[in-house]
Order: sequence, then C-alpha cells, then structure tokens
Amino acid sequence: MQPLSPQGQTPFCVVATAGSTVFGAFDPLHDIADICEIHRLWMHVDAAWGGGLLLSRKHSYKLSGIERADSVTWNPHKLMGVPLQCSALLTREKGLLGACNQMQAEYLFQPDKVYNINFDTGDKTIQCGRHVDVFKLWLMWKAKGTYGFEVQIDRYMELAKYFYKVLKKKDNFKLVEQYVFVNFLFNDICIYTQIAPKIKAQMIVEGTVMLSYQPCGDKVNFFRMVFSNPATRQTDVDYLIDEIQRLGKDL
Ligand SMILES: *Cc1c(COP(=O)(O)O)cnc(C)c1O
Repeated sequence: MQPLSPQGQTPFCVVATAGSTVFGAFDPLHDIADICEIHRLWMHVDAAWGGGLLLSRKHSYKLSGIERADSVTWNPHKLMGVPLQCSALLTREKGLLGACNQMQAEYLFQPDKVYNINFDTGDKTIQCGRHVDVFKLWLMWKAKGTYGFEVQIDRYMELAKYFYKVLKKKDNFKLVEQYVFVNFLFNDICIYTQIAPKIKAQMIVEGTVMLSYQPCGDKVNFFRMVFSNPATRQTDVDYLIDEIQRLGKDL
C-alpha cells in the first residue's frame, strides 16, 4: 500500500544520509529500509561523505543497512582522498544506468569495436566525458589496496578522537559534535558571533593553517575540522590548536 503525504502526493523514494556534510550525522539505515520495504519505496543512501568508512572494519558499522539500498552515492574524492572530482552513483539494478542515460551517440561510442563494448562506461553515465574520473579511484585502489584505505580511514578516526580529547581538556574550546569531523567553538562566548570568521581571516593573512567554519542557524559560527588528508599527523593537530589560541588571543 502506498502512503500519501498530507498534500495527497504519493512518495516513491526515501533519501537517507550516511554522513551529513556539516555534522557528520548518520541516519538509521535499517529502520529506513524496513519502512521502504513495507511501502515499496526506492531507498537511496547519500553516502557522499560517509561512504569511505565502509573500507574500515572498525567503523563500517555506522553504515549498517546500506546493503539494503536501491542506490547509493559515494564520493571517493572526500574521505578516500581521490583528487577532485570523483563521485559515484551505484545502483543495485543491473542495466538501469544504461537504460536511463544512454544516447547511443554513434560519433562517441561506436558499437562495432574489436572488444566487448560492455566495458564502455561512457554511455551509462550522465557525465559523458567525465566518466573517466573513476580511473583515479581505480589507480589509487591498485596502489593502496583495500587494506591501505582501511589504515587511512582508521587514522582519520584516531586523529579525530585525539583532537576531541585535547579540545575537551581546554576550557576555552567548546565541542559541538565529533565524528571524522570535530566541530567546535573557540572561546564559547556568544557575543563573539564573529570570532570564527575573524580567526579564519587571520589564518589566511598569516598563511599558517586553514580551517573552515560553519554557521549554525541563528547560533554562533563554529569551526569544522575534517580529517581527510592521509599526511596529517598528531603534531599537525597540536599545531592547529596552538595557532587558533594564538590568533584568537587578542580578539
Ligand atoms: C559533498 C556532498 C554531496 C555533493 O556531492 P558532489 O559530488 O560534490 O555533488 C552530496 N551529499 C553529501 C552528504 C555531501 O557531503
């Protein structure tokens, strides 16, 4: 039976998020999948950010239930560290992307090749020439291996935990949220709603560190630290905290 919305419209799809962009929140995918099964709704999971965690045996539980989705978005250019841009749309139903997207433009993808043209991905994507982006992921996977990616993801999570622990001990920082992202406020004083942009401006002028900040509705701006660079070490984390304190000292 199809449910109706209060406006009398018929929903056909649920889009769940596995790793929201700012807070890193995960929807309960099994619960959503149960509802989608009962009502025969298409289940899509936006795992653009969080998808990388699937490579970690320790942290993949966050996405438990994603295996029940009909389609998934996953951006290897985020947690996996593939150079921009590399975004994937995965579907369970074989042939679906071809059926939706193919234009059979003969000047692009000739059907009379000497090899099996099933390997031509170009006619299955809406991106035409950009489908070769996935080659970067393939190369990186060959070079690092699944284990290499796992080590990388686990290190991000360790660094986030470390960063969180250090900030928690400091009384001039207030934590908003922790995940692969650590969201925090410096100098937790609401009248300083412009303090994060001011510190950021100093960062740019001095060229020592770069960190983005986010508004949070009508609340004060907070800093958002994302670990997604395999070269980052604990000493960088310590340096960042020292810099924020130094740059914000006189504000
Ligand atoms: C980055 C992001 C997107 C956008 O992905 P693009 O491939 O850059 O368009 C979508 N959803 C989430 C949760 C994201 O973090």
